[in-house]
Amino acid sequence: MASVSNSGVSIKPIVIANWKMHSSRRESRNFANNFYSLVSENKKLACDIVICPPVTLISELRDVLYESAISLGGQDNHYEVSGPYTGDISATMLVDVGCSYVIIGHSENRREGDTNQLIKKKINFALNQKLNIIFCIGETLAEKIKHKTFLILRNQIKNTIQKKYDLNKIIIAYEPIWSIGTGKIPKAPELKKTFKFIKNEFKKNFKTKTLPVVLYGGSVNGSNIVLFSSISEIDGFLIGGASKSSKKFIDIIKNYYK
Ligand code: PEP
Repeated sequence: MASVSNSGVSIKPIVIANWKMHSSRRESRNFANNFYSLVSENKKLACDIVICPPVTLISELRDVLYESAISLGGQDNHYEVSGPYTGDISATMLVDVGCSYVIIGHSENRREGDTNQLIKKKINFALNQKLNIIFCIGETLAEKIKHKTFLILRNQIKNTIQKKYDLNKIIIAYEPIWSIGTGKIPKAPELKKTFKFIKNEFKKNFKTKTLPVVLYGGSVNGSNIVLFSSISEIDGFLIGGASKSSKKFIDIIKNYYK
């Protein structure tokens, strides 16, 4: 699992932490200090690491981690530079505070009203601001039961990712909604099929050799991550709950990407 093959090209896997709406300044400072020393002890980590904390904590993490290879990301962005949008954060602001990534289209934001149309605007603007996009897609349990997973994923991709985009800047995070925070994960053969389907969609429709990196997200932890090792199509992970502890998070990474 040291490297992952993407269309015959060897790529570096990536593991991304999504802290959602958790943590305080003090906790994130402690996390950053511990994480920095744990990562320094493992200079040859075979994957890239990105941490996406709440916006209020980005500078705390940046101040400790700026000399490390760990990148920072936001969890969402607005599609304009600035304006009368109370409570929103622009992609420009994320760059200004030190982010190079942003999560867009997370199911928790879709649940709050983000449509494919809005997500497309957000992606477009974030790419203009030179951010790397972590684009979340996934089906609900009801859709899975009705065998609609591929249809849903196809629509989510087709209605948001434009053919002109540089796919090196887009990371797809496949997160079955029924798996997020529930402790349930898809069976390996099923997941393998879904990853092949996602990659094929890009091969077919984008007529490019550059495929986006595709991550799995949903209830990944130190005990179950080994179950994903038979799926060579997985290029890394988006991890929520298990990424909040520096020790747990680094152990997951170390044990998987030996
Ligand atoms: C997420 O919400 O992106 C996620 C993967 O959460 P969890 O790992 O907690 O299921």
